[in-house]
Amino acid sequence: MDKEARIYVAGHEGLVGSTITRHLREQGFNNLILKPRDSLDLCRQESVKNFFAFEKPEYVFLAAARVGGIAANQQHPADFIRDNLQIQTNVIDSAYRHGVKKLLFLGSSCIYPRLASQPIHEECLMGGYLESTNEPYAVAKIAGIKMCQAYNRQYGTDFICVMPANLYGPGDNFDLENAHVLAALMHRFHLAKLNGEKEVAVWGTGKPRREFLHVDDLAAAVILLMNIYSGSEIINIGSGKDISIAEAAQLLKEVIGYSGAIVYDTAKPDGTPQKLLDINKIKALGWQPVITLEEGLRSTYKWFTEYYRRHARD
Ligand code: GDP
Repeated sequence: MDKEARIYVAGHEGLVGSTITRHLREQGFNNLILKPRDSLDLCRQESVKNFFAFEKPEYVFLAAARVGGIAANQQHPADFIRDNLQIQTNVIDSAYRHGVKKLLFLGSSCIYPRLASQPIHEECLMGGYLESTNEPYAVAKIAGIKMCQAYNRQYGTDFICVMPANLYGPGDNFDLENAHVLAALMHRFHLAKLNGEKEVAVWGTGKPRREFLHVDDLAAAVILLMNIYSGSEIINIGSGKDISIAEAAQLLKEVIGYSGAIVYDTAKPDGTPQKLLDINKIKALGWQPVITLEEGLRSTYKWFTEYYRRHARD
């Protein structure tokens, strides 16, 4: 990508899109195309077609998606499969029809089989049953990958796909019920500290293992790949380390300075037992994660408390 390239970041208001946008600007890319959610509904085919015809982007980061934690996925399975299929189909097809030079599609580590051998190699895709708590979301994301690969094969496009581990960072959704685990627990521990509550409930048994990746590390990886990688093989992006939910909760408790107890609500689901990606492929391409989980949680908590204070005043 040259610095004048017309780059469309789909989903620039979300965690991933906003971070990619900030990194692009810091690297001197000034010709960014950003369209707020309320002025372009990516689920509407006609609107997306017209937008591409008018804006003619050269590069597309497809970071727009309906995302959420384990509870949101279970409560809104239809919304997760429909919105994601619509968004990605509209954007990928318009990118092809309007001559986009390159598109990067964001998948997810949850698309791999529930019982994939760990660390999960890219070749494990479609080798077994999916985790039921987020199957509709995963099926949509798998369809997005297959669509990029099919367009590359039939139309000669340059569409690449990456699979990030569980992401977190400033700008995340911190909703107590619908967010992913680190953001939801950060919020819950923070409130418990403020209100002097004696205990905080962590969902499930605390035994599942997750690999967490700071969104700044992800943004550096996807911009690198947009610049140097072409091909239909999917690429994992992770921190290379996993920890149990119990260990993550303990770390959060320390970072936040909460002194009460942790209790486990085993009526809530555990989800998949482990998700740790094999990141040898992206490492060989010249990227590696630089933000440790502890550092990342500390800076995210700083961001969260400032945001929380600002919004509490509104
Ligand atoms: P997943 O990786 O798709 O399962 O997504 P989540 O980030 O939602 O959940 C990860 C793990 O954290 C699961 O085992 C959850 O049961 C557990 N967990 C513990 N407390 C919470 C919480 O407050 N919110 C969420 N979303 N998950 C939690």
